[in-house]
Amino acid sequence: MGEAARDTIIGIDLGTSNSCAAVASESGEVRLIPYKGGDFIIPSIFAIDDKGNELIGHEAKRQWQLNPRNTLYATKRLIGRSPMDDVVETVQHSVQYRVHAGARNDVELDCQGRSFQVSEVASRILAKIRDVASDNLGFRVTRAVVTVPAYFTDRQRQAVKEAGKLVGLEVVRIINEPTAAALAYGLGKNLRERVLVYDLGGGTFDVSIIDIRDRVFEVKATAGDIFLGGIDFDNALIAYVLADFRRKHGVDLSADPVAMQRIKDLAERTKIDLSSRAEAPFSIPFITMTPQGQPLNIDMRLDRALLEQLTEPLLDRSMEILARVLTDAGMSTGEIDKVMLVGGQTRMPAIQERLTAFFGRPPSKGVHPDEAVAIGAALYGWSLVAGGEQRLQLLDVIPMAIGIEQAGGGTHVVFGRNAAIPNARAISATNSRVGQTELVLRIVQGDHPEAVRNETLGEFTFSGVRPGPAGEVRLEILFEVNVEGILSVHARDLDTGREMKTTVRVTQS
Ligand code: AMP
Repeated sequence: MGEAARDTIIGIDLGTSNSCAAVASESGEVRLIPYKGGDFIIPSIFAIDDKGNELIGHEAKRQWQLNPRNTLYATKRLIGRSPMDDVVETVQHSVQYRVHAGARNDVELDCQGRSFQVSEVASRILAKIRDVASDNLGFRVTRAVVTVPAYFTDRQRQAVKEAGKLVGLEVVRIINEPTAAALAYGLGKNLRERVLVYDLGGGTFDVSIIDIRDRVFEVKATAGDIFLGGIDFDNALIAYVLADFRRKHGVDLSADPVAMQRIKDLAERTKIDLSSRAEAPFSIPFITMTPQGQPLNIDMRLDRALLEQLTEPLLDRSMEILARVLTDAGMSTGEIDKVMLVGGQTRMPAIQERLTAFFGRPPSKGVHPDEAVAIGAALYGWSLVAGGEQRLQLLDVIPMAIGIEQAGGGTHVVFGRNAAIPNARAISATNSRVGQTELVLRIVQGDHPEAVRNETLGEFTFSGVRPGPAGEVRLEILFEVNVEGILSVHARDLDTGREMKTTVRVTQS
């Protein structure tokens, strides 16, 4: 194995629908890594068939219609999430496999009678990408830069790292998808530009404002929604088709997983067709039978105007988020040099029209919407290995506040939304009881003033607090967020200087 090979860090775009990998040569030229047959995409799908074989990617997708209950897809939306809020319920409505609360305050997925943690599923997909890349490159790939939505919490980032670890893939760095796209666009062009990345992929939406100054990429503000993506556009179409069928035939197809899978497949294809055509047929023969044994068909024509009407609330939501990011950054539309489109769903003409109306000029076609993220990740991996003059500086922000739960249930914000990272902040605390030897902090991430409405990052217990009168033992708690947006916490006794042990316990809800 050559030196270059051993050092190589590939870039992986671990997408909700599809994943993709890229690699840079020693001189920094990037190419996407092809899968069999020249396809650059690996569907982010994991399945187990009747014989117990594990299938990943295209193999899993091919048998999807026939085995919908044991085919896990769009699982990225659940990675690093606790089963609180309506997450489990929301996802359960749109997938055919079973989703339930896991033992570690996480979400688990059932497949062929077995329960999987979401990071296990992600690890299978990462391993597949790693193996495809190793075959293609002719050496064993062991390191990668992996991208995540900018709007991912600390816990979601940790879960992606853990997924890599499970299969022996070192996730050298997690970077944000919009930042990676900006790298693919701007690196090596000696730019001085402010870009706004509008990234609408299969499952998630991110918008980031990034200042590019040659090799420095500085994120000014970011916002997003990890429950807004192409799948929701498909679901809007599916809901319409189901309602129409119910009206015509009095039959509810939503309880029939095989029928649902056929409708889902065609809904996505029709949605994509309607980006380039004004009208498309929506026909599925023999979708079900009447109680008398008569076959029933779906036979409709859909048009672009209808799709736009059905998905208008989704576009409205993305535009609200976009407006918020500009407000957060204190900028007007005129201060943005370029609007960049990333993610397959941005091919929908209505999205481009809305952005054109908002900014008064059309978005740029500067990057390939499906490939830019993996390319940016590979470029970053390359710069880490090359070092020296090739080093890139990525200055990012945290997407939502990080804080601790206060006694009254409020959130005490430690880092505000869009705080620059890396970052460190110390807060002081005192013991509240005589003889207290432990300090327990619940750390949350989210912008809600009520702590319980935010995502719990963990409960941190500092043991070994020096016993003393209430209010007299002074502690300093140091919060550090590293370049990847990952948090660590330490505590120190201010009088003795002693550092205290931290243990993290993920809370059971
Ligand atoms: P990505 O995660 O970036 O690969 O985005 C995948 C999403 O983009 C899926 O929901 C696709 O259905 C959607 N998509 C891909 N091509 C198009 C298109 N031409 N028009 C509308 N949506 C598309």
